[in-house]
Amino acid sequence: MTIYNFAAGPATLPAPVLQEAQKDLVSYPGSGMSLLEMSHRSKPVQDMIQAAEDDIRALAGIPDNYHIIFLQGGASAQFSMVPMNLLTPGGKADHLVTGNFANLALIDAQKVGDVRVAGSTESTNHDRIPIQDELNLDPDADYVHFTGNNTIYGTEWPREPEVGNVPLVADLSSNIFSKPIDVSKYGLIYAGAQKNLGAAGVTLVLLRDDLLERSPDSLPSMLNYNTHCKGHSAYNTPPVFSIYVLGLVVKWLAQQGGLEQMAAQNEEKATLLYKQLDASEFYRGHAIQGNRSRMNVTFNLPTADLETQFASEATAEGLVELKGHRSVGGIRASIYNAFPKEGVEALVSFMKEFERTNG
Ligand SMILES: *Cc1c(COP(=O)(O)O)cnc(C)c1O
Repeated sequence: MTIYNFAAGPATLPAPVLQEAQKDLVSYPGSGMSLLEMSHRSKPVQDMIQAAEDDIRALAGIPDNYHIIFLQGGASAQFSMVPMNLLTPGGKADHLVTGNFANLALIDAQKVGDVRVAGSTESTNHDRIPIQDELNLDPDADYVHFTGNNTIYGTEWPREPEVGNVPLVADLSSNIFSKPIDVSKYGLIYAGAQKNLGAAGVTLVLLRDDLLERSPDSLPSMLNYNTHCKGHSAYNTPPVFSIYVLGLVVKWLAQQGGLEQMAAQNEEKATLLYKQLDASEFYRGHAIQGNRSRMNVTFNLPTADLETQFASEATAEGLVELKGHRSVGGIRASIYNAFPKEGVEALVSFMKEFERTNG
């Protein structure tokens, strides 16, 4: 039986990436050793890291004045690294709170400095994204932080908030490289790899050059972006294997036709599911139309018991990990870049059949 893995992260990886990683695991081409055994100062590893960086720059058209670094500690470590590095003395920042991770980012940033909520969708249980007119932005803020896709609630910013000349900082962990991106609109972007980019253990950070001046010398070395930019992501031992897998995924994305093509495929997959939700009274989507995520499709059934039954019967048919996050319940289908359209079609068929027998 084919297994379709709808997990929210770590998530489905492209099969060719897994096969290549397996093929090269014991003996990395040209070296006779495994990457897992090699010094991060060795030429094969340094070349591999450089190639991953070059491929990311080409894939997303990242301008030369942006650093590309690979860090540890997950996206969650960036919740505090961002304010530690980007808040100026006596400065303040604005956060837009659209879900669980946005809220965790806020909580950590507030431990570091003067950080305000400049927009929130908490009052409607994060079923939407704020509209521009609702934002209460401070033109003197050091930066504005937002979360591009809300993994748990299934909402996604249809476009970046407009923030004038204030640097925009984004957590794009769950929708990076799912569509074309104009990186020049951002001061800093971060993304844990395990949803759209690869295996857990590495976080991609894209950072505009001029912002490096802000980091205070008093920061511990590992928490200062300058350390990692100067050290080309190898100041200390980096997560070599996770960077390698990320590099393979980026190559795979380019082979698929790049970000335009990913956008078309992701739109097509998500539309199949949302059409099914809209065609039925039995299933109720959580997110409002216009703010629906193309990555995480969240919905409810008439009762919690039916939701449990749905997830367990789906599992028996090879459609696994459909249970919603423990904080909101319901059903969540995560369909990132690497998730195949056939899996979405299988879920749509299952939904029709489940409604026919239980509706
Ligand atoms: C999953 C997720 C995180 C948490 O990432 P970790 O790498 O586990 O720290 C943060 N932000 C968003 C938007 C996520 O989807």
